[in-house]
Amino acid sequence: MNSDPVERTHKDILIVDDTPINLRVLAKILSDRGYKVRKALNGQIALTACQTLVPDVILLDIMMPDMDGYEVCQRLKADPKTQDIPVIFISALEDEWDKVKAFKSGGSDYITKPFQIEEVLARVKHHLTIQHLQYQLKVQNAELQALNAQLVQSNKELEQFAHVASHDLQSPLQVIIGNADLLTWKYEQQLGPDGDRYLTNIMEASGRMTHLIQDLLTYSKLGIPQPEFEAIDCNFVLEEALANLSGEISKSGANITHAHLPTIRGDEIQLMQLFQNLMANAIKFRLPDVSPEIDISCNLNNPEEWQFEIRDNGIGIDPEQGDRIFEAFYRLHSYNEYPGTGIGLTLCKKVVERHGGRLWFSSIKGEGTTFYFTFPALKS
Ligand code: ADP
Repeated sequence: MNSDPVERTHKDILIVDDTPINLRVLAKILSDRGYKVRKALNGQIALTACQTLVPDVILLDIMMPDMDGYEVCQRLKADPKTQDIPVIFISALEDEWDKVKAFKSGGSDYITKPFQIEEVLARVKHHLTIQHLQYQLKVQNAELQALNAQLVQSNKELEQFAHVASHDLQSPLQVIIGNADLLTWKYEQQLGPDGDRYLTNIMEASGRMTHLIQDLLTYSKLGIPQPEFEAIDCNFVLEEALANLSGEISKSGANITHAHLPTIRGDEIQLMQLFQNLMANAIKFRLPDVSPEIDISCNLNNPEEWQFEIRDNGIGIDPEQGDRIFEAFYRLHSYNEYPGTGIGLTLCKKVVERHGGRLWFSSIKGEGTTFYFTFPALKS
């Protein structure tokens, strides 16, 4: 229906009955209560009346010549314009009629004659209320769908922007780094302490920017349709991530232990990024003068889900930060303290969610942090 029935001051009720006296009695009861009442003496007139103006409720007699109430109801339900009108069947106790058939043909309720006035009024009101709530739900649903479509679109645009921007920033940055290298190589002796410092600043800032651009590119690529998931052995993924981090591991003296990990369905590169980011953080955010102790374990939460845990003995995260650490660019430390871009965990969350899982953490400040993530288990 195209307008909210409860917003209308006079609710419009159509009564369909081939007995004029019945029509009159019901019409009087309802119009005395302030309803706007229309009457139809047969099914065809009722259908035409509904096309002219869609009523809020229909009271429909079952036993009528030519077209019985079931057929009228079926036709109303088959037409998108009239399908939402609640139909209350009315029939005499002695009539041969079938309640199941009445509901199957789309009826919402039924009243048997002789009826009590209060019952008729209560049922009419009840169906108007249900219809009003359904209307509100429909409106809210349409609003939510529109909002969702907008969000999906702007998300896509943002990802495209991040991709294009980070991609196009790479070549000018390479020119800056290349020229700074040349300056160092050719003129190092002549620059003096100030010149040296300026060059160091350029190289450091360029290094930072390279890191940021690479993270942005990786993040934006997650929005691009990916190849189908395949069976991935997480032990293999972990070994790859550990190999990539071998420099940091030996520099920090980290001790990494891990249990045997399962095989899941996923994207190998993304899973490697996930393990690598979480372990790189576990190493990076270590306590001063304490070698990182990192443990990776995994258990079946239930037959359907694996739960992974990556535990460290680092600086910990203030629990008050909550989920903010998963927001893009959100960092709790300055770059000089702990270098980074604040995209790593955003990327991890996206990877886990793309694989149908969840990512969260628990932490005690000064003692360490555990990141947890789940993945659907392979069906055996
Ligand atoms: P980055 O590592 O580039 O700063 P992330 O998105 O990976 O960005 O992490 C966001 C923030 O969460 C970090 O800046 C850090 O403050 C905190 N964090 C992440 N992992 C850990 C960890 N294992 N221990 C302590 N703090 C962490």
